[in-house]
Amino acid sequence: MEYLPMGGSIKMIDESLKLAYGEDSEFINDKRIAAVQALSGTGACRLFADFQRRFLPDSQIYIPTPTWSNHHNIWRDAQVPQRTFTYYHPESRGLDFAGLMDDIKNAPNGSFFLLHACAHNPTGVDPTEEQWREISYQFKVKNHFPFFDMAYQGFASGDPERDAKAIRIFLEDGHQIGCAQSYAKNMGLYGQRAGCLSILCEDEMQAVAVKSQLQQIARPMYSNPPVHGSLVVSIILNDPELKSLWLKEVKGMADRIIGMRKALKENLEQLGSPLSWDHITNQIGMFCYSGMTPEQVDRLTNEYHIYMTRNGRISMAGVTTGNVAYLANAIHEMFA
Ligand code: PLP
Repeated sequence: MEYLPMGGSIKMIDESLKLAYGEDSEFINDKRIAAVQALSGTGACRLFADFQRRFLPDSQIYIPTPTWSNHHNIWRDAQVPQRTFTYYHPESRGLDFAGLMDDIKNAPNGSFFLLHACAHNPTGVDPTEEQWREISYQFKVKNHFPFFDMAYQGFASGDPERDAKAIRIFLEDGHQIGCAQSYAKNMGLYGQRAGCLSILCEDEMQAVAVKSQLQQIARPMYSNPPVHGSLVVSIILNDPELKSLWLKEVKGMADRIIGMRKALKENLEQLGSPLSWDHITNQIGMFCYSGMTPEQVDRLTNEYHIYMTRNGRISMAGVTTGNVAYLANAIHEMFA
C-alpha cells in the first residue's frame, strides 16, 4: 500500500485509455493523450474543471438539461461559469435532437460541452449513432471542445467497446477531447474511487505539459490517488482471462437490466394501463426516467415504500423478478 505517483498508476491509466480510445488507438501509440488516475468519475470531472478554470479562465461549460446533479456542483466549485443546453424532450421522453443541435449551433465558437458518453444519467436517453455523427460534425464546424463523462461504459449495451462509440466517432472526426472514466459501476468499485481523466492533445509535447499541469493541480488537492482500486483495475484488465470474465459479467449485468425494463413494461401493459410505456425499453443504462412527478414519487414512497429520486428516476438495478410486479402495480395506481 505504498503511495502511487501524483498521476497515479501507469498500468491502470494504460488499460483505461485502451478501453476509452480503443486497443490499437493511434493516439495512444503517438503518446498524444495526457492522462492521470483520478478519484473516480467525480474526481476526473473536478480535475478537468479546475484545469479549465486555470488555463482558460474566460471559458464556460455547457451542461445538458437535465444532468447528473453533481455536474453543476463540480463546475460551480471550480468557478467555471455554466450554461445549459437542451437534451431531453419531456413529451416523448426521448432526445430533443432539434433543440440540442440548435443550442450547439448557437453557442459561441470554441465552447466547452459536457457530454454523457453513454447511458445518460438521469434520463437513460442516448443519441443514436447517426445523431452522434451529426453532433460531432457540428462540433467541428463550431470548433467546440467535447468533454465526455463516461461513468457507465458497458452498462448501456453490455459491451464496453460499443458503449465507447460516441467517443470513437469524435476521434475519427479529428476532435481533441477530454474524457472522465469511472470504474464505480462497471467494476463495482464504488468506494475505491478508481477512475481516469484523459485529454487528447495536439502532440506528445503538449501531452507531457498537460499531464504535468494536471499533476500540479492534484498535488495540493489530494497528493496522489488511492492504490487499492487501481490494482484491482489493472490486474483484471491486464490479464486476458480475468478481462474476459469481467466482460462477461458486465454483459450479464446489462442484460439483466434490459430484461427488467421489458418485464416492467409488460407488467404495466398487462394491468391495462392505457399509457405508452415504450420509453422504459427505449431508454438505456441503469436508469429509467419514468416521467412521474415529485408528488407521485412522494406517494410511491409513503404508500408503497418504493424509493427513487424525486425527478422520477428509477434505478433499474434495484428492480428484480421478485419486485417488478409490485412496482408496476404501484406505478399503475399513480396514474389511475
Ligand atoms: N458521472 C455521472 C453521469 C454519474 O452518474 C456518476 C455517478 O453516479 C459519476 C459521474 C461519478 O461517479 P463516481 O465518482 O462514483 O465514479
